[in-house]
Amino acid sequence: MGVGLLEFESLKAALQRRWGDRLLTDEPMSEHTSYHIGGPADLYLIAESGDELAQMVALAAEYDVPVFVMGRGTNILVADAGIRGLVIELRAGQVRYTSNDETVVWAEAGANLRDIARESVARGLAGLDWAVGIPGSVGGAVVGNAGAFGGYMSDVVRRLTILDANGVREISAAEAEFDYRMSRFKAGSVTSRGRKEVILAAEMVLRPEPVAALKERVAEYIRRREERQPVEPSAGSVFKRTAQYPAGFLIEQAGLKGIRRGEAMISPRHANFIVNLGRARAADVKALIELAQERVLREFGERLELEIELIGDWD
Ligand SMILES: Cc1cc2nc3c(=O)[nH]c(=O)nc-3n(C[C@H](O)[C@H](O)[C@H](O)COP(=O)(O)OP(=O)(O)OC[C@H]3O[C@@H](n4cnc5c(N)ncnc54)[C@H](O)[C@@H]3O)c2cc1C
Repeated sequence: MGVGLLEFESLKAALQRRWGDRLLTDEPMSEHTSYHIGGPADLYLIAESGDELAQMVALAAEYDVPVFVMGRGTNILVADAGIRGLVIELRAGQVRYTSNDETVVWAEAGANLRDIARESVARGLAGLDWAVGIPGSVGGAVVGNAGAFGGYMSDVVRRLTILDANGVREISAAEAEFDYRMSRFKAGSVTSRGRKEVILAAEMVLRPEPVAALKERVAEYIRRREERQPVEPSAGSVFKRTAQYPAGFLIEQAGLKGIRRGEAMISPRHANFIVNLGRARAADVKALIELAQERVLREFGERLELEIELIGDWD
């Protein structure tokens, strides 16, 4: 999407007046992604509250400059050319537990999912225990309907507070249109409201379970993750599983484990992870994505769909 120079400079001046030296320009996205990959964002701001985020989004809309809202950058591959417009990292992270007939945890979208998972386990609450090893924010987890070991965000989310062009409102989980690693908020979703809505908070319902049983389960999850997951920087699983097979199995059967492009590599440990060995470029990772897709299609007739999102200026 093109950004008009006059509009861009006007927005920059307006953001500077309001947030002064918190506004970063030409900020390397490699500093803000788990991949440690990605070129500059024209403008970069951290929103510490939902109100701040709403103000930033409204200003960008006023000047017609595109906005990309992100959490912790653990499920995205940002182009080497970076991102045009304004990137907002949502850090609003308040969390509240309430217990009446049922236990509800309400969290702002910038809260760390892993911390909530750990705290819930310590309180003897099941429902998010599968998330102890998943990095990223509550908002990012809702967008991609994150999950592991048979658990999904969609199992626990009951309501969401969202921001769109008309303001702040609440929606039910059914309206979020959750599917496997998908929701209405993710780019490429069927309804494709993707970039126009921001998640501000989520209300999740948990259920009591003895702490000892929960801790045992969590220890097993962590053990299995440590056994299988590569240690180098990544964005987690690159592809969704197909109807029949885990993507990693197909990529491994195609003989691609350990294949490199530049400093990017299909992990010898787990073929659905493409890792950054040091100074990999986004183009290197993308070349491996395309290689895996081509080979798996040719050899097994299976189409591999991305789980991670390619963000920014890929032209
Ligand atoms: C080592 C490793 C292991 C992982 N294991 C798993 C796993 O087991 N299961 C799993 O599901 N995932 C896994 N992931 C992927 C990732 O951790 C999750 O997808 C996570 O939920 C992403 O959260 P985030 O805040 O980093 O999102 P980001 O990467 O910042 O953003 C992802 C998408 O969500 C959007 N977004 C983020 N916040 C908001 C918001 N508030 N409003 C609107 N849109 C928003 C962004 O625009 C972007 O489209 C793993 C990643 C790594 C690095």
